[in-house]
Amino acid sequence: MLVLPGVIDVHTHYGLVGARGVRTADDFYQGSISAAAGGVTTVIDYADPLPGESLPEAALKRRREAEGSIVIDFSLHVVVSSFGQQDVPELAALVEQGVTSLGEIFTSHPSLKIDTEDLRLLLVKARDAGVLVTMHAEDDVLIQKAGRLLRQLGQNDKQYHGISRPIEAEVTAIKWLIEMAAELECPLYIVHVSSGEGAKAIADARRAGQLIMGETCPHYLLLSEGKYRESGAGLYIMNPPLREAENNDALWAALAEGTLQVVTTDHCSYTRQQKEASSVCFDIMPGVPGSETLLPLLYTEGVGKGRLELPQLVKLLSGNPARIFGLYPQKGIIAVGSDADMVIFDPAKEVIITAPEQHSAAGYTPFEGWKVKGYPRLTLLRGQVIFRDGQFCGERGSGRFIHARQGQLL
Ligand SMILES: [Zn+2]
Repeated sequence: MLVLPGVIDVHTHYGLVGARGVRTADDFYQGSISAAAGGVTTVIDYADPLPGESLPEAALKRRREAEGSIVIDFSLHVVVSSFGQQDVPELAALVEQGVTSLGEIFTSHPSLKIDTEDLRLLLVKARDAGVLVTMHAEDDVLIQKAGRLLRQLGQNDKQYHGISRPIEAEVTAIKWLIEMAAELECPLYIVHVSSGEGAKAIADARRAGQLIMGETCPHYLLLSEGKYRESGAGLYIMNPPLREAENNDALWAALAEGTLQVVTTDHCSYTRQQKEASSVCFDIMPGVPGSETLLPLLYTEGVGKGRLELPQLVKLLSGNPARIFGLYPQKGIIAVGSDADMVIFDPAKEVIITAPEQHSAAGYTPFEGWKVKGYPRLTLLRGQVIFRDGQFCGERGSGRFIHARQGQLL
């Protein structure tokens, strides 16, 4: 067996209420059970302030929502959609509360995106307060343009999802953000990078000495756009979309080279029924479940296929996320004085991933039928076994809020 530090999934959306009031199927309880089954012992979810609510109020409310039900430890990012001078003191209050990252802040999504002047002020003030800004990078103008064209042509079926949000939109947004960060001398973290070109823009900036960090997800490493032309295509709709297969290799290389520091899942578990309520690509609820399959897939496809060394995998899934998001050394390492969050991992155990075996309430997995070699046998949270051979044996509400400190810039 391998004894690994517990996995930290820094991008989950439990009980997210998306467009049209549709709520994701996994709440903090169910979602965290699914995560624990896959060896995840800490997640970072999002607090999204209601209109008129301050950032610290939103964080506290979200913390209370999770406490009492979540079964693994957690931290929070806070979403910001507008920011002015009057909001600056809220950053210090957040740090006091143990929240040191903001996001995912949208450059797309007309209703969610932040005004450019607000973003510039936020980047500077967040840097000064020791708070990391994380960005969803897709250029809204290019997405609107692609959408208009498709609508004019009457091409709005699932197979057009990729075309409706082209790589160009991601790359343009990443470059725009990098330029802004350079001018303002601020660090930046890009969530779910989906393309080789997007990763290359980050690599170039890092080579030029900029502190730009980023993550990708198993679906961008392992799946490709062809899914949108197969039956069940709606289940694969997420933003940004799946890309041509050549991007898979480029993203693996970006992980191996350290251009991207984290692999996360963007776990966003709409049910099959919710996903299939529409066949129009613009209307399908975007997002896929993923925490439970993160470690087995990355081990099998990364270490098993020689794309990553085992220590690299541990960094990408535990050490780096803990460092970047201020949880280290309490989390992200097996050491005296750290929380004993561990996975006892059987590198020889072969499993075929199927939805009925999964613990997410989504009821499907984008990796249906994938064969993995290497699977968690035990998951330990602070020394307590919470998952044993596919059985949850923890306790509802045993997860704790972790007070994040200022993260490291890797
Ligand atoms: Zn997300």
